[in-house]
Amino acid sequence: MKIRVSWYTVTNDLGPGRRFALWVQGCHKRCRGCISPSFRDMDGGKEYETDDILRMILDADVSHVTISGGEPFLQSEALADILTRLRQQRDVGVICYTGYKYEEIASDPLAGLVDLLIDGEYVEELDDGLPMRGSSNQRLIYLTDRYTSDDLPKHRTSTAFFEDENMILVGIPSKGAKEFLDMVRSDTDD
Ligand code: SF4
Repeated sequence: MKIRVSWYTVTNDLGPGRRFALWVQGCHKRCRGCISPSFRDMDGGKEYETDDILRMILDADVSHVTISGGEPFLQSEALADILTRLRQQRDVGVICYTGYKYEEIASDPLAGLVDLLIDGEYVEELDDGLPMRGSSNQRLIYLTDRYTSDDLPKHRTSTAFFEDENMILVGIPSKGAKEFLDMVRSDTDD
């Protein structure tokens, strides 16, 4: 089975513990101020076999996975395939971001594999510095008892990666990090 991916890395951002973070490519929403506009193009990123992503997660030797995008629920079948087979081999915690509201995707098999869901579109006016989410309308929905609020970071953290001409920001950027990101992007656009 194929999956279209924007980027992946191992990180200490985006949840408790060392984790494999996977950004899937493609999103139909157009939130103003979206931090990853290049991840929205449905034809962007790179196509992988789900077997390859599964192998990378297993090789990373992590106990946690965070899935973001793009929109994970547009590729839920492929992600469910990866997570189902991953959990047959290792007990991992799964955090997933989505631009949909939980009520819209609750019956999707992917939702049944997620421990903590952060839902809802990004609303720039509501970007008020809360950890783990881009804007305060987004809910932290604990779908299992694997994580509690005590496990989560109390502040926003993010890490910048530079690859060729591109800069990727992993995490939820603070106001200062977002200003830096905007500055870098405007310099790149010149
Ligand atoms: S849902 Fe996420 S990826 Fe999609 S436009 Fe909104 S912020 Fe960007």
